[in-house]
Amino acid sequence: MSSRWTGLCRADTAELRRLQDARLALHVRERLVPFSAHYRRVFDAAGLKPRDVRSVADLARLPFTTKADLLAAQSDPARKRDFVLVPTPELIRAHWPLAKKLKLLSEEAKETLRREYTPNFVTFTTGRSADPVVFAYTPHDMRILSEVGARMLDVHGIQDPLARIVNMFPFAPHLAFWQTAMAGLETGRMMLSTGGGKVMGTAGNLRLAERLQPHVLIGTPGFVYHLLREGAERGTRLDAVNLVILGAEKVTPGMKHKMAEALARMGSKQVVISGTYGFTEARMAFSECPADPAVSPGYHIYPDLGVFEVVEPETGRVLGEGQTGELVYTPIDGRGTIVCRYRTGDLAVGGVTWEPCPACGRTVPRIAGELRRVSDQRAMNLTKIKGTLVDLSSLGSVISNLPEVEEWQVVLQKKDDDPHELDELVVRVSTRPGTDRAPFEKKLREELMVGVEVAPNGVEFKTTPEMLEVLGMETEMKEKRFLDRRPK
Ligand SMILES: [Zn+2]
Repeated sequence: MSSRWTGLCRADTAELRRLQDARLALHVRERLVPFSAHYRRVFDAAGLKPRDVRSVADLARLPFTTKADLLAAQSDPARKRDFVLVPTPELIRAHWPLAKKLKLLSEEAKETLRREYTPNFVTFTTGRSADPVVFAYTPHDMRILSEVGARMLDVHGIQDPLARIVNMFPFAPHLAFWQTAMAGLETGRMMLSTGGGKVMGTAGNLRLAERLQPHVLIGTPGFVYHLLREGAERGTRLDAVNLVILGAEKVTPGMKHKMAEALARMGSKQVVISGTYGFTEARMAFSECPADPAVSPGYHIYPDLGVFEVVEPETGRVLGEGQTGELVYTPIDGRGTIVCRYRTGDLAVGGVTWEPCPACGRTVPRIAGELRRVSDQRAMNLTKIKGTLVDLSSLGSVISNLPEVEEWQVVLQKKDDDPHELDELVVRVSTRPGTDRAPFEKKLREELMVGVEVAPNGVEFKTTPEMLEVLGMETEMKEKRFLDRRPK
């Protein structure tokens, strides 16, 4: 653990804000505007000089950056590197102060600078959007990724240097896998990366876990729950597990409860289940401070590495501390691919707070514990009268939260597969042994009506193995929870 993080966690709030303002101003002045073609244009168009950004409050004078901006640049060969910091000798001459330029006179200093800014690693966005966006990291960014990994283990309270961890994120150029792997390498903890279900199947993961007897399991909620349920059924013993860390998607309290129950059957005495929040564009992730599942203290963020603003989704107006709104992110210590005021599309209920954490006492700010997508909506013609917007992530939360549900999938299709017909929404589900179908179906329909105002056209009951097959639990990188079979 770096001493810098330890210091930040106990620093005075005013001091942290001053540090953040100073680092933001330096980042804009000496890196972002000088070396990013995109942001040079943005500043010119806004009539701003780099020195006009002196504090976090000044960010509001700049426009937002969206995924569409990144995709547009990426698909144009001439603008491909517009979001990457590229320090050419001309740009350095034009933008850096004399004292900083003088330090570059030696060949050694030039080589250090080259290393600092030359990408040597990439991750891609996953998401449902067709085109993945590429994010480049330099050796400097890899050091940040490692440092953040160590900070995450610290927030999760993994103090024991002999702690054993299983990383079940799929092997892929995605943030979740690498953030986790680097955390193990940086802290010297034993970290076994299995690659998840696609690489060695459920049985392989269970065998390895049983052999290692880990204290911590890390993975996606869908795969971890599946693995624990299977393990409990097969009589696998995982007595030592006391922490499960979930990434990549929202986890309902009902789902956490089901996981804890399965682990109890495998011999684990007490387990904390915590979330993480991360996104490709930040090139790092943030850990949920462990506490009672009913009252999450939220995710600890790093004021020395980035800025989170909270804005009203419709107007883009910056909101005050503790107000619910969309998270907007600006990294302040990165190289490689860099965004500024990036619209995450994630809504933080309760926004961001600088109050000391009630659970751990750290003074670094926190994103409130409940996150949702601002819009994960699909337009559907369920009736002849008008179109309906269906919020898929809320729909999924309602289903996965039910204690009777083992696996589920939502299918959007055309009635009778006829392209001219109305749309249909069908819920496929497997339930726990002993669940009575008729009362369960009634309950599911009621919960969906109350939660998302949708009445499914059908509920199909399947066995859990059948569900695992249609979800692609062991064959896909990410299980297929939502299947849109309508013609495009
Ligand atoms: Zn805390």
